[in-house]
Amino acid sequence: MTPRPDPRTGAQVKATDRAHVFHSWSAQELIDPLAVAGAEGSYFWDYEGNRYLDFTSGLVYTNIGYQHPKVVAAIQEQAATMTTFAPAFAVEARSEAARLIAERTPGDLDKIFFTNGGADAVEHAIRMARLHTGRPKVLAAYRSYHGGTQQAVNLTGDPRRWASDTGTAGVVHFWAPFLYRTRFHAETQEQECARALEHLETTITFEGPSTIAAIILETVPGTAGIMVPPPGYLAGVRELCDKYGIVFVLDEVMAGFGRTGTWFAADLFDVVPDLMTFAKGVNSGYVPLGGVAISPAVAETFARRPYPGGLTYSGHPLACAAAVATINVMAEEGVVTNAAALGSSLVGPALRELAERHPSVGEVRGTGMFWALELVRNKETREPLVPYNATGEANAPMLAFGAAAKANGLWPFINMNRTHVVPPCNITEAEAKEGLAALDAALSVADEHTV
Ligand code: PMP
Repeated sequence: MTPRPDPRTGAQVKATDRAHVFHSWSAQELIDPLAVAGAEGSYFWDYEGNRYLDFTSGLVYTNIGYQHPKVVAAIQEQAATMTTFAPAFAVEARSEAARLIAERTPGDLDKIFFTNGGADAVEHAIRMARLHTGRPKVLAAYRSYHGGTQQAVNLTGDPRRWASDTGTAGVVHFWAPFLYRTRFHAETQEQECARALEHLETTITFEGPSTIAAIILETVPGTAGIMVPPPGYLAGVRELCDKYGIVFVLDEVMAGFGRTGTWFAADLFDVVPDLMTFAKGVNSGYVPLGGVAISPAVAETFARRPYPGGLTYSGHPLACAAAVATINVMAEEGVVTNAAALGSSLVGPALRELAERHPSVGEVRGTGMFWALELVRNKETREPLVPYNATGEANAPMLAFGAAAKANGLWPFINMNRTHVVPPCNITEAEAKEGLAALDAALSVADEHTV
């Protein structure tokens, strides 16, 4: 049942928002945010009675959908008993969340440093790597996103960095593998992988290995396009890190906690980093939480000298109680296996079938509940449906595609010339089919802009 709240309330909410809320990543006068009245499971609705199937999971974080009753109850119970307590104390919700996370992270990553979200997790991972190695530089990939704070935005390898780049953050960017738009003139995944590793080693050599603290990669790059790395790439990066004494940081803020059909994307590639960042899915974003999972070797650096960093709300009990409940729900309700099974049996095959029928779909890639459709003007030349970082009129084809999806009750994830299919990991088969049908119709609108 979808409640039908009063449209006048919606108008009021929106007017107050427009008067006082300063929105992220936006020209304040050019946006028109939807006033949301409520949400449950895979759906949300506005004050006009329009209901949307959320193929974005918010910002790819509601991995168990909205308002899961067990997680809501756990937050309420924690609020009733111990709403907050400072990070220097041992608190049951915090220690239990750390235990459950450490139990699931790959290999021997068994100490957890809690943050408020993803970007500050990245900031701290880099600080740990620099202090551990005594080296200044970090290598990060183009086509990546690591967060909106200063160090994290400097690491980011897409236009979200441009306006904020200080240019002095000790960051060197390199190309990770992406066969569809190869930088290496590769024709196969094997070639792409080998050449990307050779490029990375050359970058290390010319930068000077003794100056490089860390290599940071999203295990599967998310907002930049869900480029699942070819087999062997991450293992190859691991080897290079070992060879040159570099800390390997995997950013699993988006890819972690079930998104790829495994607890962590690293599990898909059998690779263990030295540091791993997480946020979002750890508690489905019900209360802000992120963190860094730390290897014994890095933890040892701070065994007898203090780690010089921290946050007032590190491991906030409400957020940690939500994490404990979320992880238990994911385990008990088979959320991770649902993402894997629906991804391989339904969503992946259906998207590939759409790609065959629609001239606007250049490539489909992904795994679990983590898929991208690359929209193109021309399948032969792979010219993107809109130019890189297009705005205004140049972006009209993607806007038309988005409007068509919404008219069909689907809330789509759109970034540049791509739409990502990233619904909650516990989406049902019927819901997924409903969303795929709406996507099919919206792609027909994108098709009108092909040549
Ligand atoms: N790293 C990755 C891979 C992300 O996807 C994001 C958020 N989209 C971040 C870091 C930053 O997380 P937050 O917005 O919670 O700071």
